[in-house]
Amino acid sequence: MTPLDIMRHAADLGSRAPHTQHELSVGCVITDAQLNILSTGYSREDGNQKSHAEKIALEKLPADTDMSALHLFSTVEPCGTRLSNNPTCASLIIKYGIGHVYYAVHEPDRFVHQNGLDHMRAHNVNVIHVCDDRIFQSVEKANPHIRWQR
Ligand SMILES: [Zn+2]
Repeated sequence: MTPLDIMRHAADLGSRAPHTQHELSVGCVITDAQLNILSTGYSREDGNQKSHAEKIALEKLPADTDMSALHLFSTVEPCGTRLSNNPTCASLIIKYGIGHVYYAVHEPDRFVHQNGLDHMRAHNVNVIHVCDDRIFQSVEKANPHIRWQR
């Protein structure tokens, strides 16, 4: 599996998220250093309207995992600002100590201005962009209420 294969899998997961006008539909996959899948998540997977894909996937990891070696793939840039009091995905990724983060599309500023990538980079998270037409179209299809930019 290549990073692109993993991101395609994340995009498939994102399309499973129950649609809502007020939130994004995002898919997330967490792998070890060899890109073996350890955990997955998608928006609202637990039935909570406010649950983000990254948080769901992070919470499925065994506690004794060496987080710094892990790679987290999210179809949309992990959020850095939230209107609710919930912790942002960028802050959770930093708290867990995840070493590498891949994203396919930038989070739009429709809801709030986003700065998740800068926040993670400032905490030495290796941030990588990976996307292709199929992934981009999958994100668009899962989120018809959003105008996306590549
Ligand atoms: Zn988030």
